[in-house]
Amino acid sequence: ALTGHKGWRPLWRDPDPKPAYDIVIVGGGGHGLATAFYLAHTFGELKVAVLEKGWLGSGNIGRNTTIIRSNYLLPGNEPFYEFSMKLWENLEQETNFNSMVSQRGIINLIHTDGQRDAYRRRGNAMLLAGADARLLGRDELRQMVPFLNYDNPRFPIKGGLMQSRAGTARHDGVVWGYARGADQRGVDIIQNCEVTGFRIEGGAVQGVETSRGYIGAKKVGVAVAGNSSRVMSMAGMRLPIESHVLQAFVSEGLKPTIPGVITFGAGHFYVSQSDKGGLVFGGDIDGYNSYAQRGNLPVVEDVIEGGMALMPMIGRARLLRAWGGVMDMSMDGSPIIDRTDIDGLYFNGGWCYGGFKATPASGYAFAHLLATDRPHETATAYRFDRFARGHVIDEKGVGAQPN
Ligand code: FAD
Repeated sequence: ALTGHKGWRPLWRDPDPKPAYDIVIVGGGGHGLATAFYLAHTFGELKVAVLEKGWLGSGNIGRNTTIIRSNYLLPGNEPFYEFSMKLWENLEQETNFNSMVSQRGIINLIHTDGQRDAYRRRGNAMLLAGADARLLGRDELRQMVPFLNYDNPRFPIKGGLMQSRAGTARHDGVVWGYARGADQRGVDIIQNCEVTGFRIEGGAVQGVETSRGYIGAKKVGVAVAGNSSRVMSMAGMRLPIESHVLQAFVSEGLKPTIPGVITFGAGHFYVSQSDKGGLVFGGDIDGYNSYAQRGNLPVVEDVIEGGMALMPMIGRARLLRAWGGVMDMSMDGSPIIDRTDIDGLYFNGGWCYGGFKATPASGYAFAHLLATDRPHETATAYRFDRFARGHVIDEKGVGAQPN
């Protein structure tokens, strides 16, 4: 159908690297591009480059299950994710790009009375931070999503916590929107340009060594997600981060079944339905450390078992594709947006398996830090030294998940 289409204009330029920039962002994923966009759009920084070792969208931003939400509990997290939600709600107007932000709602299922108490607490924390939250009873839930296994003897469904403003966004549409918006404002997006080292003199960063030569920079911001430990080790830093694979799955296209996002509360399984009809689902990370962008069969079995316990009809759907991405798992499940001990070198990472929803706020907060040298008001807890001080932000597994 596209054979007659000619003369397509690329959405962004393909410039050669200049000898130096004011700010160099390492990593052309969602967070790196959002940072560049807000640097140019909001903070008036014009000499900015994004260096990407592959192509835009080749990392986790093009591999995630597209869920956006702000249903966190802790004060260090919830205002940040609600800020992100508000940026999502205005993203398409701001970038003038259809990123298919779809606020179809998320339901976290409740299986025990104790879990209902915990979700009620989380819902109240969300309301206090200006987000929306609603506790659903079993009957109301059954009317909304009748196909779940309500009477599973091991994991009966007793209700749910719903955030109506949560939902999904088209992940590569987010990359392209931020990339075009940044490019239009003068940011150089340089693909196939791997950062291979940092030039550091007198405790201050001078620039980066790359596969396309040396590039000078007054400030360097690193946003390389699953490659965080590898890249920061080139600056002599050892991070409180491990890299693991997270897999995801999509079924053949089915008629519209699932209205929003549903998460199992008794295991790790979550599911939504794409606009093409595929059931998009996933679960836990693979248990071993790896930089490979593919996982292994035990987790496939574990995820499918969760799916079968929750909605047995999924066993009738054929699996179309499975894939994996590398997650930068921090030790408390929360991210880091901070300066480093090296002058001019800044770090953004530790997003675990939940960084897609954070993309707009992460970009905004990192741009704020790079431009003003002060943390954004919603990101003040995301410091390196919280591990040394014992002020970890640990949502006990319910926070920084994809679902
Ligand atoms: P990336 O897209 O990985 O960007 C990092 C970039 O840095 C890459 O493009 C990489 O090539 C580049 N890079 C690395 N090293 C170098 C170097 N030396 N030089 C230059 N460039 C370099 N989150 C949610 O909120 N909701 C979800 O539903 C969700 N589901 C997920 C499902 C799966 C299967 C996966 C894999 C992840 C999921 N996530 C989800 C997590 C989310 O995708 C990530 O946390 C987030 O995308 C990470 O930030 P990023 O977009 O900047 O990463």
